[in-house]
Amino acid sequence: MTSYPSNVPYRSAWKDDDVLAISETAEKFFATQLIPRREEFEAAKRVDKDVWRKAGDLGLLCCSIPEEYGGGGGTFAHDLAVLEAQARLGDVSFGNGVHSGIVAHYILAYGTDEQKHRWLPRLASGEWVAAVAMTEPGAGSDLKNVRTRAVRDGDDYVVNGSKTFITNGQTADLIVTVAKTDPAAGAKGISLIVVEADQCSGFHRGRVLDKVGQPMADTSELSYEDARVPVANLLGGVEGQGFGQLMTQLAQERLIIGIVATAIMEAALETTVDYVKSRGAFEQTIWDFQNTKFTLADVSTEVHIARVFIDSCIERHLRGELDGATAAMVKWWMTEQQVKIVDRCVQFFGGYGYMREYLIARLYQDSRVTKIYGGANEVMKDLVARVL
Ligand SMILES: Cc1cc2nc3c(=O)[nH]c(=O)nc-3n(C[C@H](O)[C@H](O)[C@H](O)COP(=O)(O)OP(=O)(O)OC[C@H]3O[C@@H](n4cnc5c(N)ncnc54)[C@H](O)[C@@H]3O)c2cc1C
Repeated sequence: MTSYPSNVPYRSAWKDDDVLAISETAEKFFATQLIPRREEFEAAKRVDKDVWRKAGDLGLLCCSIPEEYGGGGGTFAHDLAVLEAQARLGDVSFGNGVHSGIVAHYILAYGTDEQKHRWLPRLASGEWVAAVAMTEPGAGSDLKNVRTRAVRDGDDYVVNGSKTFITNGQTADLIVTVAKTDPAAGAKGISLIVVEADQCSGFHRGRVLDKVGQPMADTSELSYEDARVPVANLLGGVEGQGFGQLMTQLAQERLIIGIVATAIMEAALETTVDYVKSRGAFEQTIWDFQNTKFTLADVSTEVHIARVFIDSCIERHLRGELDGATAAMVKWWMTEQQVKIVDRCVQFFGGYGYMREYLIARLYQDSRVTKIYGGANEVMKDLVARVL
């Protein structure tokens, strides 16, 4: 998958031949197995589980999980290449970012050996789909204030609470649930409890939420009513570690949002250049207006800056050197750029830019939320300001 404009001689240094190979496999997979079924999945408000299993068969899930746990044995660059390929084709609804990029890494980083062997092979094969349930109706940015409770009762936790906006909520077989095991201890009373949906009678899926964009994503409400979860499903086996566990992974998670934003900006630019060069008005093409050339020159420069920035952060992360403040910069700046650039591109399509049959309209719908999820951009700026 090349960056755009493709005739600018630039290659992302993190894309070695192996990463490029998985990128190519992913591109073919999404182009043949996901994009053509968009209408079906949008109507169902979820991507069919067979797509997950086929992705697993091709080695496109959990690419950076070691082979001993069923993963691809690659680096995080391999995961990012798969996520980038999907976004470059204009889709951000298939929830592999949460599955491979977030949940699998919680299990890898904090799970006991037994937990890793139990859960990771199922995630890597696509037999199981994963979700992470942090957000609640009353607590989003302020994660320390979650009210979901997990109370120990013999060999089980009894979990009560509600979650909302959960990506993969309808499909997920494994849900890393953020719960308070000791409400008096603040952040130190938070634990990650892994709910296996088919084993848990008090676990319920609520509405699939009707969103402005990302219509194939099954973003859902979840609830826990005296849901009994074995104590053996406490991630890492020690209570009170959850907040730290979540925070430690954040830099990596923000790179996912950054690479997706970059790929979406590149896709928006490419489709816009194609369109304006073929659309006629006033006996010339839209491209022939100087305004079009200047605006798209601006846009392509900004997209290239975004590409160089994200590549530099990915390389730092792969060397273990990416700090939290820079990762927060990635999250807020890339998503602001994404929303701004897609909006500028829409303008060149006139009325067609507002029609969902056009890629640019779908990118427009899908983009807005990126300034909100994965940590609201204001929270990111707060993190950046702390190091100034
Ligand atoms: C499509 C989608 C998918 C999602 N997927 C998941 C998921 O898989 N799992 C999950 O747990 N959650 C998920 N979320 C939830 C998401 O992470 C939260 O929406 C986000 O963290 C913001 O929380 P909130 O919606 O409660 O907003 P609030 O916390 O109520 O914040 C509202 C606004 O207040 C402002 N604000 C908040 N805090 C500050 C601050 N410190 N400084 C300045 N301004 C501030 C910001 O402008 C913010 O946008 C998803 C959300 C969406 C929309």
